[in-house]
Amino acid sequence: MPDEIARPFELADGSSPSQEFAEQWRNASYNCFSSGHKFCREVCPVMQVTRNESWTPTAFHANVVAMERGELEVADVAADYVNCTQCGACELRCPNTLFTGDFYKFRTRTVDVVKAVRAFAVESAVHQPQWKLWNERTNERTHEPVLGQTPVSQERVRDWADGLDLPVGGETVLFVDCEAAFYRTSVPRAVAQVLRLAGYEFGLMGEQWCCGGPAAEMGYVEQAKRFAQHNLDNWRSTGTKRVLVLDPHDYITFTEDYPKYFGADYDIEIVLVVELLAELIRGGRITPSVPVERTITYHDPCRLNKRKGIWKEPREILRAIPGLDFRDVDRVTQWSYCSGGGGGLPVEKPELTAAISANRLDQASALEVDTLVSACPWSERPLSKAGDDTDIDVVDIHELLAESLGITVGGSRGEIGDRRGRSR
Ligand code: SF4
Ligand code: SF4
Repeated sequence: MPDEIARPFELADGSSPSQEFAEQWRNASYNCFSSGHKFCREVCPVMQVTRNESWTPTAFHANVVAMERGELEVADVAADYVNCTQCGACELRCPNTLFTGDFYKFRTRTVDVVKAVRAFAVESAVHQPQWKLWNERTNERTHEPVLGQTPVSQERVRDWADGLDLPVGGETVLFVDCEAAFYRTSVPRAVAQVLRLAGYEFGLMGEQWCCGGPAAEMGYVEQAKRFAQHNLDNWRSTGTKRVLVLDPHDYITFTEDYPKYFGADYDIEIVLVVELLAELIRGGRITPSVPVERTITYHDPCRLNKRKGIWKEPREILRAIPGLDFRDVDRVTQWSYCSGGGGGLPVEKPELTAAISANRLDQASALEVDTLVSACPWSERPLSKAGDDTDIDVVDIHELLAESLGITVGGSRGEIGDRRGRSR
């Protein structure tokens, strides 16, 4: 196997910082640049709604090649890298990601390249205005500001659990992402009450801060690491060994970013709530028995299906709920769908997120469903907005399960209400 795809390019007047950065990614990026087959193109949610060639995986790698050759600096291209939700769909179609070991040792890793260029841009003082503001506010409040006017502060992070009388700390704690803790409060309320019904013991986190994942996705890596350190220290201070996670963004941060930050010192077991609930149903510890009369399809969160290969357990839960008419599509087709809610896109480009969500709802409409079920609180706001235009209600899978167990969840779902047929 060759040690490099192309010889390093030598600039006559020495290396620029962009060229030094590109050095780390050059082999994988040349790998794509020399193929350019664009199998990734049509599954990219941004490409689907913009048709902009500068916002494709191919372009993201070509820019690295151009930086290495001194043709471009990071300031010239940083804004292009905003246009990615880090959904991972491109990697599931890219032969140089999937089969590269058969041919070369340089694997094309588009999500990592996007994250790295964003981090390099921040390091080079090239900021995107909304991302800068978002991360400054997150830093001040220790939680993401959350879109809109929702009040966010450290004092209010446990407000979602009002009246549930949950203990704090212990061997197992529930981590609730910022969107669910402050906005979609019905999701953690549903999770907490279902777990209690199953007799599963857990506590609230002692002092929960944002997981830091979104900061890392937008390039604010120092902040992300600082937040991660706080959370790890806090888990240790309460004797926590296991963290339950209901949000796919937290899940990927705790299982991919934290191990990179802490190495062998990271000894916390991370449990995805959807997988735990499927197990509790399988073991007979909870049995959904209240019929839920809805015609549904399921929205695979990108960070579960595409990035972590978790697609079976949510379907197991849905198939256990009586009354549902579940119209699924094949899993490969699911790779093409995204809500547009990830990778910081709704912060910097809400109009693109809205277009991607509208596209997702069009796919659901074709199945003639009245409900789109999601397992990701961050996708539910943009999907719900798009759902109002198509008369489709967007419901969280945890909320739906709680309903079929006869639990009155409370929290934000009461305010959101059943949105089926709103425009009629
Ligand atoms: S990202 Fe992969 S599929 Fe897309 S052009 Fe590059 S090598 Fe080909
Ligand atoms: S990760 Fe998703 S949004 Fe980003 S380039 Fe790949 S397919 Fe497009």
